[in-house]
Amino acid sequence: MTEIDIKKKRLEALVKELSGIRGRHTELVSVYIPAGFNLAKVVEQIKQEQSTAQNIKSKTVRKNVMAALEKILQHLKLYKQTPANGLVIFCGNVSEKEGVSDIELWSTEPPEPVKVRLYRCDQIFVLDPLKDMVREKEIYGLIVLDKSEADIGLLKGKKVQSLKHMESIVPGKTKKGGWSQARYARIREGLLNDFLKKVGEVASAQFKDLRDLKGIIIGGPGPIKEEFTEGEFLHYEVKKKILGTVNTSYTGRPGLNETVERSEDIISQASVIRENKILERFFGEFAKDSGLAVYGLEEVTNALKEGNVEILLISEAFDWVRIKFKCPKCNTEIKKTLRKEDIREQKCEKCGASVEVFEEESLEDEILKFAENMGTSVELISTDTPKGEQLKELGGIAGILRYKVNNRI
Ligand SMILES: [Zn+2]
Repeated sequence: MTEIDIKKKRLEALVKELSGIRGRHTELVSVYIPAGFNLAKVVEQIKQEQSTAQNIKSKTVRKNVMAALEKILQHLKLYKQTPANGLVIFCGNVSEKEGVSDIELWSTEPPEPVKVRLYRCDQIFVLDPLKDMVREKEIYGLIVLDKSEADIGLLKGKKVQSLKHMESIVPGKTKKGGWSQARYARIREGLLNDFLKKVGEVASAQFKDLRDLKGIIIGGPGPIKEEFTEGEFLHYEVKKKILGTVNTSYTGRPGLNETVERSEDIISQASVIRENKILERFFGEFAKDSGLAVYGLEEVTNALKEGNVEILLISEAFDWVRIKFKCPKCNTEIKKTLRKEDIREQKCEKCGASVEVFEEESLEDEILKFAENMGTSVELISTDTPKGEQLKELGGIAGILRYKVNNRI
């Protein structure tokens, strides 16, 4: 995975998390700040929204919206200017209990430039612009066929693109003319085989050199798609990429669209399988105590710097940040590296007052840079599986080493 893949996957996880949130009232705020946009203007707008929010009738909703806007303003203070690709912030009351407030904030600097400027207060978060970004670069191959026609296409993000359309001359199953049934069946079988071969050749030529092709899905209304999938019709390199088959009612262009609609599970399953393989390898080394499994921020970072990490596993829940606090009372400044979830509890070391964060830097970007420089491959691991949860427990970061280190100092 490249850095951009990781960012996309992370964004995907965020979108998934946020789409599950529904406000009890119109109290969830989404802010999209485009790349290059003046941050001071955004601050100004949020302040205006604050004064508008004072007119909200319900006392609870008013309180929650005001609190969310205040939190957004605080968060914006962390930035001197709009980040290179823009900034997206979500904030609001996510408590499921009426009358109870739990104002949470999420913020992301997306892997691609934000193009839309948006402020909205709603019962849900506005996620469509991010969804487009997540899907855009994933490419899947599509083949839809039955005995009479075949279509080859690509799924690029959400767009389906037709590449080739082919028609066969395979006749129906019922015999025509004066041939015996057996002979008719033989001829029909031969024609079908020729057709599948042709489809395989054309599809192989289309897909073979697509470096970013994540997988191939084969659709169609009848058993021909299975025959095609199991047979030796595709080039072996291409065949390896088949993720599965789906039943469709149609062939042709509508069949391509149908295949996409029905392959959502197959596509998400594919990444789960890949993830599981890597986790199994890591926990295998871990259990054997082979010395090839490392975990925890410090140990992994050290191994990374030495260029000794073959595969870096980062949990979706990895949230280590480097932070600068300031005490509002005695002006003491503190620098710390900690989990994001622990920020709230930080107190001034001198006077015990609650502190204000004025600089926050994710360690992930830095770690990914190390990985890239050292030729380490990186996998972002979800917390959807028990092993994924375990990785989170190990500090959210782990590595499979290239070689065993005997003398640790
Ligand atoms: Zn203090």
